[in-house]
Amino acid sequence: MRWPPILPNGSGKASPVTASDRFWERPLATLTREQWEALCDGCGKCCLHKLEDEDTGAFYGTNVACKLLDLKTAQCSDYRNRHHYVPDCVRLTPRLALDLPWLPDSCAYRLRAAGEALPDWHYLLTGNRDSLHQAGASVIGKAISETIAGPLEQHVILPEGMMIASDEDWDDDDWEDDSELPGGGNRA
Ligand code: SF4
Repeated sequence: MRWPPILPNGSGKASPVTASDRFWERPLATLTREQWEALCDGCGKCCLHKLEDEDTGAFYGTNVACKLLDLKTAQCSDYRNRHHYVPDCVRLTPRLALDLPWLPDSCAYRLRAAGEALPDWHYLLTGNRDSLHQAGASVIGKAISETIAGPLEQHVILPEGMMIASDEDWDDDDWEDDSELPGGGNRA
C-alpha cells in the first residue's frame, strides 16, 4: 500500500503567533488556528511516501518526497494550492495526530497529541528556524523527489536490524497503491 504524501504545516512564512505564552504546552484542542499552524517544525518528513505491508499492516518509510516538496528547504513549494496538485494531501487534525501510525516520532503534532514535550531543536524553543536542520532532524539532504525516484519499493528505509529481502522475496502484490484510501494529506 502506498500512502499519499502529506505536506508540512509550514509555508516558511513568519507566524503571527507569539512565543511568550508557550502555547505549545497547552492541549492541542485549545490552540487557535495560527498556533496550530505554528507547531509544525517544518521537517518535511510527512511529505515522504510510505508503504504499508498489506499482510502485516506495518508501515515503512521511504526517502521519496512528494513532487511539491522543495528538497533544499523542506517546505512545500506551493502550499496554498497543494490540493490542486496533490488532492489527497492530508489535513492534519488533533485526532489524526494521535491516530496516524506513520507520522514521524519527532512530529510536533504527534508529540503534543501524546502529551509529550517538543524536541529541544524545535524552533519555538530555540527561536531559530534552522535549528532542526542543524540537528539533522529534517529531510534536507536525505530525500529524493518522486519525479525521478522510480519505484518506491527501491527506496524503503527499513527499521534498524531488519534485513533487506532478496529479489526473489519481493512480490508486487505485497504492495498496494492506496490511492483509493480516504483522507490523504496532512495538517492544520
Ligand atoms: S512531520 Fe509534523 S512537524 Fe514535520 S513537517 Fe510534517 S506536520 Fe510538520
